[in-house]
Amino acid sequence: MSDFYHHGDLIAVLTTQPLDRTLDYRAPEGGCHAGAFVEVPLGPRRVLGVVWGPGRGDFDLAKLRHASRVLDVAPMREEMQDFLTRAAEYTMTPLSAMLRLATRAPGLGDPPAMRRIYRLGQGVPDRMTPAREKVLDVLRDYGGLAFTLRELAEMAGVSTGVVKGLAAQGAVLEEDSPRDLPFPPLDPGQSGKTLNEDQAAGADALRAGVASGRYGTTLLRGVTGSGKTEVYLEAVAEALRQGRQALVLLPEIALTAEFLTRVEARFGARPAEWHSGVTVTERRRIWRMVAEGGAQLVVGARSALFLPYRELGLIVVDEEHDTSYKQEDGVLYNARDMAVLRAAICGARVVLASATPSLESWANAEAGKYDKLVLTDRFGAAVLPEMRAIDMRAETLPTNRWISPSLQAAVTQRIRDGEQALLFINRRGYAPTTVCRACGHQIGCDHCDARMVEHRFLKRLVCHQCGETKPMPEICPACEVSGKLAPVGPGVERLTEEAQALFPDARIATLSSDMYASARALKAEIENIAGGGADIIIGTQLVAKGHNFPLLTLVGVIDADLGLQGSDLRAAERTFQLMRQVAGRAGRAEKRGQALLQTHQPEHPVIRAILAGDEEGFWRAEAEERRQAGVPPYGRMAGIIISANDAQPAFDLGTALARMDAPLRAIGAQVYGPAPAPIARIRGRHRVRLLVRADKGAPLQAALGRWLAQVRLTGSLRLAVDIDPQSF
Ligand code: ADP
Ligand code: ZN
Ligand code: ZN
Repeated sequence: MSDFYHHGDLIAVLTTQPLDRTLDYRAPEGGCHAGAFVEVPLGPRRVLGVVWGPGRGDFDLAKLRHASRVLDVAPMREEMQDFLTRAAEYTMTPLSAMLRLATRAPGLGDPPAMRRIYRLGQGVPDRMTPAREKVLDVLRDYGGLAFTLRELAEMAGVSTGVVKGLAAQGAVLEEDSPRDLPFPPLDPGQSGKTLNEDQAAGADALRAGVASGRYGTTLLRGVTGSGKTEVYLEAVAEALRQGRQALVLLPEIALTAEFLTRVEARFGARPAEWHSGVTVTERRRIWRMVAEGGAQLVVGARSALFLPYRELGLIVVDEEHDTSYKQEDGVLYNARDMAVLRAAICGARVVLASATPSLESWANAEAGKYDKLVLTDRFGAAVLPEMRAIDMRAETLPTNRWISPSLQAAVTQRIRDGEQALLFINRRGYAPTTVCRACGHQIGCDHCDARMVEHRFLKRLVCHQCGETKPMPEICPACEVSGKLAPVGPGVERLTEEAQALFPDARIATLSSDMYASARALKAEIENIAGGGADIIIGTQLVAKGHNFPLLTLVGVIDADLGLQGSDLRAAERTFQLMRQVAGRAGRAEKRGQALLQTHQPEHPVIRAILAGDEEGFWRAEAEERRQAGVPPYGRMAGIIISANDAQPAFDLGTALARMDAPLRAIGAQVYGPAPAPIARIRGRHRVRLLVRADKGAPLQAALGRWLAQVRLTGSLRLAVDIDPQSF
């Protein structure tokens, strides 16, 4: 049992306020356990905090205040405190920011009496008032949903008394909150699919790992369709049998629906679903149930790592290579790495699943730090698609056309056979650039360095970096000539137009994240496609992420060279992964698929490796290059992002920092830059970046800490540390 502090004892409380230390208080009336969630007075306010340990005693004891009250939720476990502490150290963020990630469930502090919910009732109120009408409107708008008193009153813009009045007359029903109801139990006893030999061996190994009750990470590799999901579901089953909880992280909300259905088929009930699209009330319920053991399995986004699991036994990171696991805002962390950290602390197993693992995970497996499992075949008769290049230098195309005659012929054939073809282009919108034909001006974003992208579907220009939008101008902002602005290059919308012209009788579906009003609409379209409701699918990166389209047998990649152009050291890895993922969409069940890559450089080593399907060869060559350069995973990197309202002070600070590099030199690290950051301007702020490289074993964070301690930030200057940056 954790330490208990009696009323008046000195305690240290970590609050969610942006302070970088704990604050001393006296334990509240009735005392509190270590880890208890408490409300404490801070200045004129009361704020949320966690009893972190005994007080430091370095504050005037006479002035110490008492914590106001203990919240009615399970205290934070010691292992969670450890996890937050170590994650804060690793990412070099204040502990209070980590605590905010862990307490995101809103309304955490509602006392039990307030945990009542309100939904539409049958009763008719004695008289109607505009305020009452507003409450009933909200409830009608939201169908059968229920809200807490405060939520409902806030949404309707009325006082809570109005809701209470309606409740007294039965027009609104007041009930105990279902968020206290545990999730229906999952039954691991139901037998899963009959696994083939490879799959069965994989499942055995994972089950044994989970049963051991000790930390370990397994890299589960296998092409799309090889049954990775079937195999790791057996690891989930084992965790459930052991009475421990499991977490499955998915990179994309759009993937959860299909996954939940599979869980339900396997375990007879639906698990907890955690992501930004889940209602506040449901998230609160999940937070509590995870802490109390009333949720056995959580499926969701990276932030699910920060839920207060009582008995975590397994974390699966599906599509572990996916860049969306890196949070690039606020606390900069990679959920894949944090999953490994969390599991190591609480003695859980990790499964990293991917058809095309990150070089980091590949290297860890090669080095023996991770176990390796490889599923070689596609399930059943399905085989990998045939991969071919279409040499664009040999194809004749009219201007503003991107589908080559060879690709067109192949698509026509598939449609004739009643199959589906996917045309892949990794560019949202209509055209990546809008140029004035009179003066050559390109329309850029007013807030960033990016070009504005025309989205005809939205009828606007959109900045893909900061999200700024504006209407398409009539006249050129530079030369003021009208009617001369023209789109240059293809985006997914423009490609759809071309396909409509080339295949007038085909049913064409476009899949791009910004073209659907909601995750639900997108899911409906994905289901429609899977059911054969389209002949041609035109899609962005979104389609690369693991949807099952059984009729799809041809993938045409419009521009395989696109990702190879940057100077980013990870460009080759990204292109390789993306092309393999996309190609993997073709041909599942019985039909052999084909992938055609339109390229201007079929002899490029990355394109050749993709075509040859020579994964090991590609990884080895790529690993060797990184080893030579001493960069991750064979060295360590950190980015220091300095931002300010103007570029000059940011550069000046960067230059000054680069000169004061003694603490870095002391560990053999080098600093490069300052240079404009990969995103050089966001929302009006100018950003420059310093890159620090160190050898693998070097104590990078400690040295960075000493180095950055020399900085005094003035004016609008801000500084953020990005350990393991995505691009370098
Ligand atoms: P991955 O996760 O590697 O892409 P999945 O686990 O989604 O592969 O499997 C691909 C498809 O094959 C799914 O529809 C799955 O249900 C099916 N499948 C895989 N293994 C089996 C099996 N042993 N028995 C029956 N169906 C299977
Ligand atoms: Zn112009
Ligand atoms: Zn912008």
